[in-house]
Amino acid sequence: MEDKIVTLEAFYDPMLAEIIRARLEANGIPCFIADNNIIGANPLYNQAMGGIKIKVFEHDLEKCREILSQPEELALTDEKLDQSATTCPYCNSTNVRYGAATHIKTNWFHLVISFLLATYPLPRKAWHCFNCGKDFE
Ligand SMILES: [Zn+2]
Repeated sequence: MEDKIVTLEAFYDPMLAEIIRARLEANGIPCFIADNNIIGANPLYNQAMGGIKIKVFEHDLEKCREILSQPEELALTDEKLDQSATTCPYCNSTNVRYGAATHIKTNWFHLVISFLLATYPLPRKAWHCFNCGKDFE
């Protein structure tokens, strides 16, 4: 029996779609984003295409919804940045990390909905030095 590929969700915000995709992949769910290139080339197609679709195998669908309904710590950009080039301006340590200045536990679905409505107050992002304990931009 072939695994069917189905649409998990459709998003109008490419960044949000990327965040969801990264979250699923971090949980071992194979998935990909459809229509993203077209939208990147011309945002006007976004509406016509019905948004950016995240595709998953049908048998992973339940698992995906479970993952996305879990609360999680907001650390959305942690893996994406190359951190090796950054040093602390106070002590020159490379033991620094980029992320939300304050860790917030949140319900993922509330976050998604807020994103879609563009009302979510994003936590301030900053670098944190684990050597001297200071935050910097
Ligand atoms: Zn430091």
